[in-house]
Amino acid sequence: MTTPRTDLTRNQALVLGALEKAEGPLSAYTILDQLRDDGFRAPLQVYRALDKLLATGRIHRIETLNAFVACARPHCHGHGLVAFAICDDCGQVDEFSDAVVRERLGAWSSDHGFRIDKTTIEIRGHCAACSAA
Ligand SMILES: [Zn+2]
Ligand SMILES: [Zn+2]
Repeated sequence: MTTPRTDLTRNQALVLGALEKAEGPLSAYTILDQLRDDGFRAPLQVYRALDKLLATGRIHRIETLNAFVACARPHCHGHGLVAFAICDDCGQVDEFSDAVVRERLGAWSSDHGFRIDKTTIEIRGHCAACSAA
């Protein structure tokens, strides 16, 4: 279930808007720079908004880049497995999910009595457009 945007505070809506407009992942400091004209002054303001947006599944953190992207499909997945393909040339991030990968990881976890809190799959490489160039 995705909650409507009216649930967001002004700061959360501004941060989400910056991420949705971005061509690629943004760091918290880049977001802060972009939102200075909107009254953002301190990194903590950005981090608070990011935490809330992460918790509600509207954005994702790209761990290997320490940066954030807007969820590509906020209506399609809840807290299931999400994977990212990150182009190291143009910085584009493709979000996808794969049922087979999720099943395999789930099977391994139950075999080993491991309780999953979070799964991070990030593929680094070169997107089709950059590979062709
Ligand atoms: Zn997503
Ligand atoms: Zn690329």
